[in-house]
Amino acid sequence: MIKTPEQYIESLRDGRVVYQDGQKVEDVPSFPPYRQMVNRSASEFHVAMQPEYRDLFNVRENGDEYSFAYHVPKTGADIQRRRTITQTLSRLGAGGSKLTGVDALNGVAYAAHTMDKMAGTQYGQRVDAFRQWCRDNDPGICAAVSDPKGNRELHAEDPRQKHKDFYVRIVDRQKDGIVINGCKLHISHSIFSNELVVLPSRNHNETGKDYAVSCAVSCGTKGVKFLATDSSIAGGGGHPMIIFDNVFVPNERVFLAGEWKFSRLYATSFARYHRLTAATYKHVQLQNMAGLARLIAEHNGLTKATRIMDMLAWLAMYAEVTEALGKAAALDAKVDPKTGFAQPNYVYTNCAKFWFADNWHQAIKYLQDITGGIAGTMPSPKDYENPETKPYIDKYLGGAADMSTEERLKVLQAINRMSSAFGGILTIHAEGSLASQRMTLYQQADWELFKAAARHSLKIPTDHPTFKEMSVDAPWELKE
Ligand SMILES: Cc1cc2nc3c(=O)[nH]c(=O)nc-3n(C[C@H](O)[C@H](O)[C@H](O)COP(=O)(O)OP(=O)(O)OC[C@H]3O[C@@H](n4cnc5c(N)ncnc54)[C@H](O)[C@@H]3O)c2cc1C
Repeated sequence: MIKTPEQYIESLRDGRVVYQDGQKVEDVPSFPPYRQMVNRSASEFHVAMQPEYRDLFNVRENGDEYSFAYHVPKTGADIQRRRTITQTLSRLGAGGSKLTGVDALNGVAYAAHTMDKMAGTQYGQRVDAFRQWCRDNDPGICAAVSDPKGNRELHAEDPRQKHKDFYVRIVDRQKDGIVINGCKLHISHSIFSNELVVLPSRNHNETGKDYAVSCAVSCGTKGVKFLATDSSIAGGGGHPMIIFDNVFVPNERVFLAGEWKFSRLYATSFARYHRLTAATYKHVQLQNMAGLARLIAEHNGLTKATRIMDMLAWLAMYAEVTEALGKAAALDAKVDPKTGFAQPNYVYTNCAKFWFADNWHQAIKYLQDITGGIAGTMPSPKDYENPETKPYIDKYLGGAADMSTEERLKVLQAINRMSSAFGGILTIHAEGSLASQRMTLYQQADWELFKAAARHSLKIPTDHPTFKEMSVDAPWELKE
């Protein structure tokens, strides 16, 4: 089924416990500071029903229709289709309620089926049943992965940690389910979601096997509490802390419970999908960034200045390389013969996330350099609405004669928002900090191929399959 926006709004009234800026939120949909996020999330359900988007957003199968979000990715084209959906939503100013959770579902499904094949466990069919439930109910779904971690040098169970709950863990095993305790941090869109897909953020040892836990938890479950981001840092609830205060999870929603050797596989399988999602929505933002830079250059009358053109060219490259890497990661997907899951090219998806995150501050530097100081000192939009002050603003904050002051002001405000500290922190850390991409790239790079290529270029024979049959001599030489 496909939910209507109205059904989605009602689904948020499930008794969830949310705190914002020191107060308990009694009703999420009608809480004024959340209005914009509620509309944005509900819009995804509206868009999915519109004739021009219906075939892209949904799958029709055996007389039934369900969200493509819950389709198993089997080809690179499936992964690229999801990218198109994400980018369409981003451009429409909609979405979020399924953005991260689909990556968690696919990552956990792949890991569970792989573990079943290797260790004889039976978690895959539970994930499949949960996916079917999602097809039938069309929930908002989000990834609850990042743990608070405490001392990062220590494992979760290390007695030198201040307490035992820096990573979500199983505290009780009962006949019909498990009880989990702990906290997940920075969980985007979670207040506007229906289901939290919990999975480990790292590997765990045998002594820490209770931390190897993955499960699905509904947002209104007893013991789940959301502590929203300080509204002076990020609006609309931001990226909350979620407390799991002795939460019972029935067996059919448990996807990993102590199989510590596979903890890392769950984390990396999620990251593989999720870093591509990052590059996907980021491309839309980076196109906007390049557009803002070009617009303000036009307002300032500086499009012919070589130094401005250099920076604009760099910003265009920054946006388009992000997209090129994302598209390559999707279309060069690896289809796992054992599980049938298509996964993005691991190296390209990490390159894409690293590329845009590592260059973010350089891009903001160019954007601010092109703009000028007014983005940091301009009067308030309220002064522009005030008839006493508007004429001064119109007169003195205008730029090129053929362009409107009002547009210039809107562009300046957008540049200011884009340059925020929050934007930088999000870009560096969300979807994993830079070191995690470097580590993955180091592990996944085809060093044998690289070494063989280097030897071949030095005319040293190698038995690497790519070069074995390739002569080290020049293919053709002019006779003496
Ligand atoms: C806006 C935003 C949205 C987010 N959304 C989500 C979400 O929806 N779901 C979710 O699960 N997570 C989410 N995250 C979390 C994100 O994945 C983490 O912030 C990220 O993985 C970094 O973890 P951390 O914040 O604990 O920083 P840390 O891991 O503490 O990193 C800080 C620095 O310490 C280094 N470091 C850490 N450990 C070690 C070590 N052992 N040895 C050496 N160096 C180390 C890191 O490389 C980094 O340089 C979000 C984060 C942000 C900022």
